Amino acid sequence: MVKENLVKVEEKIKRACERAGRKREEVTLIAVSKTKPVSMIQEAMDSQIMTFGENKVQELLEKQEIITEPLDWHLIGHLQRNKVKQIVGRVRRIHSVDSLRLAKQIQNDFEKKKEMAHILIEVNMAGEESKFGLAPEETEAVIREVAEFPNITIHGLMTIAPFVEDPEENRIHFRNLHKLLVDINSKNIDNISMNELSMGMTGDYEVAIEEGATYVRVGTGIFGDRIYT
Ligand SMILES: *Cc1c(COP(=O)(O)O)cnc(C)c1O
Repeated sequence: MVKENLVKVEEKIKRACERAGRKREEVTLIAVSKTKPVSMIQEAMDSQIMTFGENKVQELLEKQEIITEPLDWHLIGHLQRNKVKQIVGRVRRIHSVDSLRLAKQIQNDFEKKKEMAHILIEVNMAGEESKFGLAPEETEAVIREVAEFPNITIHGLMTIAPFVEDPEENRIHFRNLHKLLVDINSKNIDNISMNELSMGMTGDYEVAIEEGATYVRVGTGIFGDRIYT
């Protein structure tokens, strides 16, 4: 099932890239394996997928224990400050840096181990109460501060769009996140040159690609519905 799903997702990514006049290589598919067993990750690996997203530190570490192949792991869920030290050197990107306090903790814990943290700043584009992320208006100010942290590189912006029936409803949020990235880049802040946009999930990744996504985070579309117990 994973294999067949991946063929379909790949085809949709390809077509969205074509519609947008973009190259397929500009978009990285992150297979969001949260709650799913290692056996399903291995099925995806059999289809040449090497990039996985998890939203919980504990689950990420458990899976890394079992899977020895070098994979690109991305932390995409809200990160508690007391867990930062556990992921030093273990993830390619942290997509979900949603406060200056968290960034400070990342700076401290990564500095102690002489590692660089590669992050994206999470922005709550739709202003949903239930979601983490900076307000668009405060994003530049936070980035200006984090830009001074020697052990952090900010690669771009991430958003989790609202759950909607029609993905077109989220186009505006993706477009605005892209605009925000271009706008902040244009300020020529020292150390800031962002080129990654993490946006789009199973319901809306094609629209996100049309609006410039470089990372799409697809879970259900690859691994099927998640069952939470
Ligand atoms: C779970 C999750 C996803 C994947 O969601 P699907 O709708 O299953 O594709 C993407 N991004 C984040 C941050 C998530 O927590």
